[in-house]
Amino acid sequence: MVASHVRKMTSSYTTTTTTITEPPSESLQKTVPLYLEEDIRPEMKEDIYDPSYQDEEGPPPKLEYVWRNIILMALLHLGALYGLVLVPSSKVYTLLWAFVYYVISIEGIGAGVHRLWSHRTYKARLPLRIFLIIANTMAFQNDVYEWARDHRAHHKFSETYADPHDSRRGFFFSHVGWLLVRKHPAVKEKGGKLDMSDLKAEKLVMFQRRYYKPAILLMCFILPTFVPWYFWGEAFVNSLCVSTFLRYTLVLNATWLVNSAAHLYGYRPYDKNIDPRENALVSLGCLGEGFHNYHHAFPYDYSASEYRWHINFTTFFIDCMAALGLAYDRKKVSKAAVLARIKRTGDGSCKSG
Ligand SMILES: [Zn+2]
Ligand SMILES: [Zn+2]
Repeated sequence: MVASHVRKMTSSYTTTTTTITEPPSESLQKTVPLYLEEDIRPEMKEDIYDPSYQDEEGPPPKLEYVWRNIILMALLHLGALYGLVLVPSSKVYTLLWAFVYYVISIEGIGAGVHRLWSHRTYKARLPLRIFLIIANTMAFQNDVYEWARDHRAHHKFSETYADPHDSRRGFFFSHVGWLLVRKHPAVKEKGGKLDMSDLKAEKLVMFQRRYYKPAILLMCFILPTFVPWYFWGEAFVNSLCVSTFLRYTLVLNATWLVNSAAHLYGYRPYDKNIDPRENALVSLGCLGEGFHNYHHAFPYDYSASEYRWHINFTTFFIDCMAALGLAYDRKKVSKAAVLARIKRTGDGSCKSG
């Protein structure tokens, strides 16, 4: 139904311009798993924007500070700053180790909890899921279940009080502030009603949730500090402040920029009516998650972008996994549907698609 609607829109579009090709025929779409139409992921609808949801009338939310988080976050950032000072005196292997740990952590977020578990944009076999849950634990950003619940609420109730990092409340709030205060009642209420049955049924996700505290201690703090110190004789303080505090802080801030910068700065070629924007710099730091106007317009696309490998290491990684047979059923929106959307709701910053 939706697909035929999009196709109809596109063919009327083709009469007015010569740059657009006909959308692929129905039979072609069946044989090619990539480039499918809008209803390509019928099993998951909890991340689709619900414009009918509006904030309740009343005074703006009061901030209730969580001092434990504020103090820990401040200490972590101080440790990271000291790590920055120690970079020149660190061994090359330590810097390489921290970099690889950064990339794997980011994949635990991008390819793992974001594209796989929150949005179900592709499917992964057990070895890949095990790798991703370990990578996700290295990144320590709440367990997969909680992250995905917050993230589905962020998409469904974008820019309302039920959005955990509502960007209308400013850069600082959507970046990190939301983690330093109690959740707004609307976040708890609407988030609590989301269908999370797919994750509840996934043993690996529930296993991570059960053992989350010891797991993050080991994977985010102890292991990255121990390895450089033990294996190539790095000074303990360098191991701790560079490989652990600095690396972890950079992973956090790169991810947070998707919620702050990519909701505030950039073009909106796909949908000018929503706040998320295309931000190449964020994509660079986050290895592909900064094409955020596209991503909110088409949350079911496994590339989280109109394109595939363009400033998008995460898509390259998923494609490599697919080549190995570990990832499959990657969902990709057709070019025709994208062009129809640009024509219908884009801000005019992208003429050719
Ligand atoms: Zn998302
Ligand atoms: Zn967003």
